[in-house]
Amino acid sequence: MGGPLLWPADEAWPVCGTAHGRVPGVRPERARRYERIVEAAWARPRPADGEGLPYTDDEQAELDEMTDSGYQPDRHDGSPLPLLALAQFHARDVPDLATFAPPGTDLLQVLWCPFTDHDDDGRLSDMGPSTHLRWRRAAEVAEPWADQPEPPVVERQKYLPNPCVLFPERIVEYPYGDYLPKELDERIQAWEDTLTERAGDAAPLYQYDLSLAPGWKIGGWDSWHRTDLVRVFCGVCGTEMRVLLTMDSYETGGSWGPFPIDLHRPTGIRVGRDGAYRAFVCPADPTHPHRMSSQ
Ligand SMILES: [Zn+2]
Ligand SMILES: [Zn+2]
Repeated sequence: MGGPLLWPADEAWPVCGTAHGRVPGVRPERARRYERIVEAAWARPRPADGEGLPYTDDEQAELDEMTDSGYQPDRHDGSPLPLLALAQFHARDVPDLATFAPPGTDLLQVLWCPFTDHDDDGRLSDMGPSTHLRWRRAAEVAEPWADQPEPPVVERQKYLPNPCVLFPERIVEYPYGDYLPKELDERIQAWEDTLTERAGDAAPLYQYDLSLAPGWKIGGWDSWHRTDLVRVFCGVCGTEMRVLLTMDSYETGGSWGPFPIDLHRPTGIRVGRDGAYRAFVCPADPTHPHRMSSQ
């Protein structure tokens, strides 16, 4: 996550097609420095009066610049924005990628323009950046691009990933309740009621403990707990789409968590209302544009 991507040196780096003008945001270096300042202050001994973190005056001035501006202290100069490297997934690490990969490909690369204001690009909501999916064959990249471009400004710090490595776990998921036959969904709810009577809050719930895992994932099932089920159809051929990628604001939730360490927000990414941002793809034709939805 967070690059660098296995991108051929002789292939143009993608640029956002929307003219964003002089929009406010934050420069990536400033956002990263902000993170480092906060992290360093946490590592110092706390003041005896127990009031706040021990920042130096210079650090406090930098933090104030962020907060006073609503965390958008910088302004874009209006030039075309190179897309931001978000993540890449190899089929050798994520076997379920193979069920989505167009023939001859084994690598999925995800980039985005870190601004939410875009013309209609197939998103079902305006809760996240404009994403770009690129499939390729890893072995065909002879010479990867060194010094990969990065947008000079991002709308929000939360759209800037912390570079990190994924350790994927394979999990069996079960459909969101509204996808199930009504009678089965009702039986599950009755079963939950019985368990809750017996165990109270400790009783597991189908939705949060047993069927849908939180965190970034490839494949699996899509949750619709914020809006109820919205079926997603391909804008070109009308086929019902399926979820390829879920980007989540949290890696833990319900009874789920990465094993054996507790990681709260390792990616640094928060999307939507601190929820999940999902890419749906067309099973009939992988060249049809994907669609994004948030929950
Ligand atoms: Zn853009
Ligand atoms: Zn289609």
